[in-house]
Amino acid sequence: MYETKILLDENEVPKYYLNLCAQLALPPPLHPGTKEPIPAEALEAIFPKSLVAQEISKEEKIPIPQEVRDALILLCRPSPLVRAKRLEAHLKTPAKIYFKNESLNPCGSHKINTALAQAYYNAKAGTEQLVTETGAGQWGTALSCASALFGLKCRAFMVRTSYISKPLRKTIMHSYGAEVFPSPSNETAFGKSLLAKDPNHPGSLGIAISEALEQVAQGKNTKYSLGSVLNHVLLHQSIIGLEAQTQLKKAELVADTVIGCVGGGSNFAGIAFPFVKDVLDGKAHTKFIAAEPTACPSITAGKYEYDFGDTAGTTPLLKMHTLGKDFIPSPIHAGGLRYHGMAPAVSYLVQQGIIEARAYEQERTFEAAMLFAKTEGIVPAPESSHAIAATIEEALACKKSGEEKTILFNLSGHGLLDLNAYESYMNGLK
Ligand SMILES: *Cc1c(COP(=O)(O)O)cnc(C)c1O
Repeated sequence: MYETKILLDENEVPKYYLNLCAQLALPPPLHPGTKEPIPAEALEAIFPKSLVAQEISKEEKIPIPQEVRDALILLCRPSPLVRAKRLEAHLKTPAKIYFKNESLNPCGSHKINTALAQAYYNAKAGTEQLVTETGAGQWGTALSCASALFGLKCRAFMVRTSYISKPLRKTIMHSYGAEVFPSPSNETAFGKSLLAKDPNHPGSLGIAISEALEQVAQGKNTKYSLGSVLNHVLLHQSIIGLEAQTQLKKAELVADTVIGCVGGGSNFAGIAFPFVKDVLDGKAHTKFIAAEPTACPSITAGKYEYDFGDTAGTTPLLKMHTLGKDFIPSPIHAGGLRYHGMAPAVSYLVQQGIIEARAYEQERTFEAAMLFAKTEGIVPAPESSHAIAATIEEALACKKSGEEKTILFNLSGHGLLDLNAYESYMNGLK
């Protein structure tokens, strides 16, 4: 039993989100002018009240509305926990490697988990249009899909390098009825100012966020939606780790190491935070590894300080690991990991010594991805490949030490919409 896949029934999809932030002493977001903590109501200009309440909630468990649970079950949940036996055999490791497969939904990544929740809460609050940014396009795809399901209009500012290198991403978003603009764009004053200096500006997530926020400030019944970083986004992703805990329990396994890639920190937090809770509560000794690219090493080379979430300096100041709001990462293929900052909650736990971060070169992540494709049959998203590289590193360490550890990683998405990235890699174009 449970040799290859650990599956759950629909009724085992979590009914509550786990709000780890409730038990963390997170430094508050500050007003950039006064440097005073900003009142929660200030956030209600860009988010519906219900999501602001989740952002600052001190409740340990937050119920998942039935409509959201239904939509999650319709599209993607529960997701399987799979043992990567062939990868283990190839590596000749005594470690057991399990991955939570978040790639099996129509949008191809974990981002649908929060997109559905955010679209639901907005629709309920009377929002008519959502505006957002998207890096590689996974978030834009997920929010477009969720907006369509809950009857909202959706506009996405897509980082220009990705817009050009991943043209079919906009086709999916268009299929869901969304509008997509390469960022920097001519749609906003901030975008125009950057294009005036450089008509071929590559863009960045920070810039795309600024453009989206500028439009939200001008739009009617328009709200902003963010795919990562903030507490409420991490909250929605907690269902990944909660399901994984139920699955491991069924197979009578205990995770020794939990691994995820980090862009803004949401898929990592999603799988890890329920396990982090057990560590904080003194019930477990799990090791956590956040894997990031050397091209955008927010945690391993950034500073833990207050910084803006966007490039124009529109957002409140967040205490996080940051490379600086003006940092423009080189156009690596893992577009979803090209963000200058990191979720404040993930940053805080790194600072507390609970989470370890490691950075991986692109070359090494593609090697890991190709090995995973050949052994497990799944072409992973370039982002997820960072988690696979870290998993392989850990599994090889077990081979050296002879330890039979159970390693759990999050397969945050598949790479079938990123095949041009694989094509470039195989053609030797880095
Ligand atoms: C967006 C994305 C990431 C990075 O974002 P996080 O918020 O750090 O999870 C990782 N993997 C995939 C597949 C993504 O789409």
